[in-house]
Amino acid sequence: MLTKTDAIVLKGMKYRDTSKIVTFYTRRFGKLKGVAKGARQMKSKFGAALEPMTNVALVLYRKEHRDLQLVSQCDIIKPYKKIHSEFDRMTAAMSVLELVNQLTHDEEENAALYSLLLGTLDELERASRRFVNLVYAFQIRLAGLFGFEPSLDQCGSCGRRVDEFAGEGSAVFQLSKGAIVCPRCAPQQAQHAYEREFCRAPSSSRGRRSEQTKSNAKISVQTLRVLQRLFRAKLDSVSALEYSKATGNEIDATLRLYLRQHFEDLKPLKSLEIHNRMANRDSVA
Ligand SMILES: [Zn+2]
Repeated sequence: MLTKTDAIVLKGMKYRDTSKIVTFYTRRFGKLKGVAKGARQMKSKFGAALEPMTNVALVLYRKEHRDLQLVSQCDIIKPYKKIHSEFDRMTAAMSVLELVNQLTHDEEENAALYSLLLGTLDELERASRRFVNLVYAFQIRLAGLFGFEPSLDQCGSCGRRVDEFAGEGSAVFQLSKGAIVCPRCAPQQAQHAYEREFCRAPSSSRGRRSEQTKSNAKISVQTLRVLQRLFRAKLDSVSALEYSKATGNEIDATLRLYLRQHFEDLKPLKSLEIHNRMANRDSVA
């Protein structure tokens, strides 16, 4: 059946002599793969519409439960020119696409995820700095969309709000629950969690006690505040968030642990590693 949907191009690969297999994240059907016949010919009707990180209007011959759909037409809605021409925007956008591609299954519709992806790319095109904030905001909101919304506003044990325990030292982020434990409640809770972890751990890792056990991460109040904003602020204000390099490192590590906790198969995001390596080099220079 001939079907229309908006989509974001996630990736493409060569197929036979002149064609391409393209992975889309679509508004109506979630992720799907399509064959674009003749897409690699000089005068292809698809032009640049099948480039990753492009927002397109897609027309498909779609059959349910078929692994590969047939792309009939694909026209650019938004080309995202800056994302395609500036390396730091591009690596930020690619890390968002990489995450979507890894964590979604074919043909599982999620219109909210599509909107988040589209909004994030729009902002990566529009923003003038701190693109990585949009990646982090995307990560934490995506976790929320998949049912792992973290609770960052108050201590999960005594109920005190973050502002009430600022100045008391680091809190603990319980990765499995997505909950915060304030510095006053943390020692007791962390000890319990550590003991559980320690007793289960294989012998080779015994005794390697660190602040980052598998189920808990130490987290500063400053990082908590930034994470709250990354989660709740309007996307168009996220890139204006400023914080220190130490906080940035903590945000990166916390989100990595949090995603890994809930999505066990998640592989490291290569594009994000490249993005952060470049950003660190620029800040040293
Ligand atoms: Zn508490």
